[in-house]
Amino acid sequence: MIIEIPIHDLKTPPALKLPERCINCGKAKDENLGITLSMGVQKRDKPAMLQISVPMCKTCADKERSIAKVTLVPFLIAGFIIGVIVFVPVTLISPEGTTSQTISLPFVLGGSAGLVAGIIGGTVVEIFVKLLAVPFYGKLITRRPLTIFGFFTETDQLIGLSANFSREKKLVQLEFENDEIAREFVQLNPLEKK
Ligand SMILES: [Zn+2]
Repeated sequence: MIIEIPIHDLKTPPALKLPERCINCGKAKDENLGITLSMGVQKRDKPAMLQISVPMCKTCADKERSIAKVTLVPFLIAGFIIGVIVFVPVTLISPEGTTSQTISLPFVLGGSAGLVAGIIGGTVVEIFVKLLAVPFYGKLITRRPLTIFGFFTETDQLIGLSANFSREKKLVQLEFENDEIAREFVQLNPLEKK
């Protein structure tokens, strides 16, 4: 379930309350994890942030902490292996330069081909591993930006909750894995329409 929260004043984003139980499975809360979205504006020389404290049970919090296993790690390992597999033959078949400037040409060609192939291959493998991980981590895992794009998007995710901020629309979207928790969230937060 997706809930949209209009942000009227980017400098003072609303304080959002979540139900005091695990966001993902609904069991008793053991700890709080955080979600942070940058509003893209400054308030008193500090970037304005929307911070949400997210209750989770131990099991789900541990899962969240291990999520790199199905995102970053497959990307890096597959990317590295594919990169090397491409680097070696390209380097070997590339014509060697005869001058001192071009003598390293095969390595440059092999290196760039390896890098590009590694990023593409790593991303493809990451997509597959994420799909395979859905039964264990929940469908929201597929909402996480791929490692290669992760640096460019204004989103933040935990297991059970995906948050996304659009500055143009002044809108925060919260996607809940658990519809029951989403309904409780709506009751806890009087979201005025404007
Ligand atoms: Zn849980």
